[in-house]
Amino acid sequence: MNDHFEQIKATIKELRSIDNKKTTGKLGLNKCKRVAEKLDLLSENCQECEQQLLELKNRLIKLKADIDGLDKNNLKQHQQFIQQVCNHLQKTHKLLPEGYYVSIYMSIGMSLGVVFGLTIFDNIALGIPIGMCFGIAIGAGLDADVKKKGKTI
Ligand SMILES: [Zn+2]
Repeated sequence: MNDHFEQIKATIKELRSIDNKKTTGKLGLNKCKRVAEKLDLLSENCQECEQQLLELKNRLIKLKADIDGLDKNNLKQHQQFIQQVCNHLQKTHKLLPEGYYVSIYMSIGMSLGVVFGLTIFDNIALGIPIGMCFGIAIGAGLDADVKKKGKTI
């Protein structure tokens, strides 16, 4: 075991307490914490997760040190890094981003809504919201299930 995760949590807490919401808001700290949690759990069996946990820690510490001098590029790099970690978690560990199924089923529901709106209801404006609601309901159920199994990032 290592204490990277503890240090990450402490750094995130400190970042939250910094009075610079304009910058700290863009760091996506909630997501960082969730990602770190997963990396911590998986790092025992996955070298890449272990490395990324360490890198996340170093990046957060650096961001905290430079917080007043961060520019768009720094923020973009940070977001790209988090995205890259999420890609690994999704591809290798079959984790899903939060709200994954809602976004998928919502668009399926909308397309079906258009079809049913044109055929059954003879009213697209009615079909789309009905389809969307069904899609969101189904997606939310699936997302809740994934979350219960601890497979949400
Ligand atoms: Zn991994």
